[in-house]
Amino acid sequence: MPSTQTSALHQLRDSYHRVTDQIAEAALRSGRQPDNIIMIAVTKTASPDQIRALVEMGHVDLGENRVQQLVQRVAVLDEFLSRRRTLAGAAKKSHAGDPDMPAHVRWHMIGHLQRNKIKQVVPHVRLIHSIDSLRLAEDLHAFAARLDLTVELLVQVNVTGNPGRHGVAGPAVLHLAEQIDSMVHLKLRGLMCMASDVDDPEQARSNFARTADLFHEINSAKVAGSACNILSMGMSNDFTDAIEQGANMVRIGRALFGDDEA
Ligand SMILES: *Cc1c(COP(=O)(O)O)cnc(C)c1O
Repeated sequence: MPSTQTSALHQLRDSYHRVTDQIAEAALRSGRQPDNIIMIAVTKTASPDQIRALVEMGHVDLGENRVQQLVQRVAVLDEFLSRRRTLAGAAKKSHAGDPDMPAHVRWHMIGHLQRNKIKQVVPHVRLIHSIDSLRLAEDLHAFAARLDLTVELLVQVNVTGNPGRHGVAGPAVLHLAEQIDSMVHLKLRGLMCMASDVDDPEQARSNFARTADLFHEINSAKVAGSACNILSMGMSNDFTDAIEQGANMVRIGRALFGDDEA
C-alpha cells in the first residue's frame, strides 16, 4: 500500500478515536453512558478505502445525504462485506476470522428525500432522518404497504425559523408525529435537526434545546410509544453541545474524514 494511503488511514484511526472519546466525555458530563450515544459516520467526503477501514475497525452506522451516492456506496460496501464473509468462512479452520468486523452495517439516509426517490432508498436504509412533510410520509407509507414493510423514520425539525431550510416548523411537529403514528407501515423513532448556524455555538445550543423539548412533548403525549427514542442532532462542529442537550445520535463527517470532497 502506498505510504500516503497508509498515513491517511492512520489519520482516520486517530480522528475516530478522538471523536469517540469526545462523545464519551459529553455523555458522561450529561449523566449518560457513552454507549447510549450512536455515532453515524457521514461518508459524503470519505473515500471507499476510508469507509472500508472504518468498518474493519468495527464501526456499524453510516450515513449519506444524497440518494445516488448512498446507493453506490451500499453496493461497493456490500461487495466488500460479502467477500470478507467468504474469506472468513474459508479461514475458520485456522481461526483467522476478524473479531472486530461487523457482519453488517446500518445505512442512514440523512439528507432531503424527494418523493420520487423513495423506492431507491428504502431497500438500503435502516433509518430515514429527513421526513419533512405529510406528503412524503404518505408516499413512503404507500410504498411500504405495497411491500409489506415497516419503515423507521425521524421527523426533521426546522428550528431555524428560516423557511428556506428543510424540516417541519416546530409548532407543526406534534401534529405530523400523530399523523405518522396512524400509518401502520411507518414507525416514528424520533426527531432530527440541524443547527441554524454551526459557527454560532449559542444559537446551535438553543436549536438543540428546542428540538429536545419537542421530542419530550411527543413522548409525554404518548404519541408513538417507547420506540420513539431517537434524537438525532449534532455534526462535526457541535456534537458535544448536542449531546449535552440530549442527543443520542450524532452525525459526523468532516471530523472523521476531513474537508475534501471525495
Ligand atoms: C453532511 C451532513 C452531516 C455531517 O456534517 P459534518 O459537518 O461533516 O460533520 C450531518 N448531517 C447532515 C444532514 C449532513 O448533510
